[in-house]
Amino acid sequence: MAKIYIIDVTNRDGVQTARLGLAKLEKTLINIYLNEMGIFQSEFGFPVTRHEINYLNANLELQESGLLKPIRLSGWLRATVGDVETTFKNVPKLKHMNISISTSDQMITYKFQGKLDHKSVIKEMVEALRLAKQSGAETVGVNAEDASRTRMEYLTEFALAAKENGADRIRYCDTLGYDSPDTIYERIFKLAEAVKIPIELHCHNDLGMAVGCSVMGAKGAIDAGVDAYVNTTVNGIGERCGNADLVGCILAIKKSSGFANKYILDERVDLSKSWKITKSASYAFGVAIAINQPGIGANAFAHESGIHADGALKDWRNYELYHYEELGRGEPEIIEFKTDEEATKILELARYANVHTQKPLTNDELRFIAKYPEQARKILTVTP
Ligand SMILES: [Zn+2]
Repeated sequence: MAKIYIIDVTNRDGVQTARLGLAKLEKTLINIYLNEMGIFQSEFGFPVTRHEINYLNANLELQESGLLKPIRLSGWLRATVGDVETTFKNVPKLKHMNISISTSDQMITYKFQGKLDHKSVIKEMVEALRLAKQSGAETVGVNAEDASRTRMEYLTEFALAAKENGADRIRYCDTLGYDSPDTIYERIFKLAEAVKIPIELHCHNDLGMAVGCSVMGAKGAIDAGVDAYVNTTVNGIGERCGNADLVGCILAIKKSSGFANKYILDERVDLSKSWKITKSASYAFGVAIAINQPGIGANAFAHESGIHADGALKDWRNYELYHYEELGRGEPEIIEFKTDEEATKILELARYANVHTQKPLTNDELRFIAKYPEQARKILTVTP
């Protein structure tokens, strides 16, 4: 049976959110946490953007050194020959990427404004895809931006062309959060059945349905016999109203009546790392976790009414679908930072890191700097 995998896009969609951003050190720590959590892939940044270059290359070095394994690190770029060329110039060791182009009538007409039509959109995508593969990309996902407002006939034609030219997956972008769970199920089922290519679900939360749409889209792919890759962000942080929440999606797949024991989530996913990654991302973004956030909100396991409290005390399963221990809840461990003979050097680096993140460093950040000073130095540096 086909499986559901997670591709987290916090370090791409999350950081392109208005009023929010992450320092390169914070992005690095998110990659480390995602890897520890068993997440399949992290879309870790923009290889065409100059200030990302040192960070991206340093993270690929951390992969070689074994710290960022087995997670895949993938870049996001536009589906143009120029972007592919720049990508391999900037980040030569990049092996995984998603290339993106708009496919809806709305965007082809009113965004490209005559520069591209339906035919040339496919042509651009195919040229970029072929070049990416020739340049050493092991996997390429092809993004259909605004897929949910794209005519099915054209979307199928686009996806077939991608498959024929070596694409490993199609990313169905519900860019505006327009789908509802039933429409995305139907559309993904049809697309997957016609093209037989693994599908990524990239859903936004403008109508409050990002998690529901993501898992129902995944179901559509699997029912049609192909693997599904759900795009998530930590705490749902992403453009406008955000993306599908990482922990929310995992819980929906593992615990809901429609999915539990029926659909298979990548077995490596370790829910017990939820607490750590969500708290760290909340601190890094400077955005508090909502009191009612699934799984990790302060009230997720609080029972106020007498009847509920009494029932939960007798047996937690009376009023809870999952136990707090499963999510690794608890205050983050405090470990004393020990300095070695290189203490002065490391502390100096830590001071720079402080300036870089503009807030007190976390224990994990300090530990990372002490252990990987060379990569840390690169991550803290931008070369204009
Ligand atoms: Zn997005």
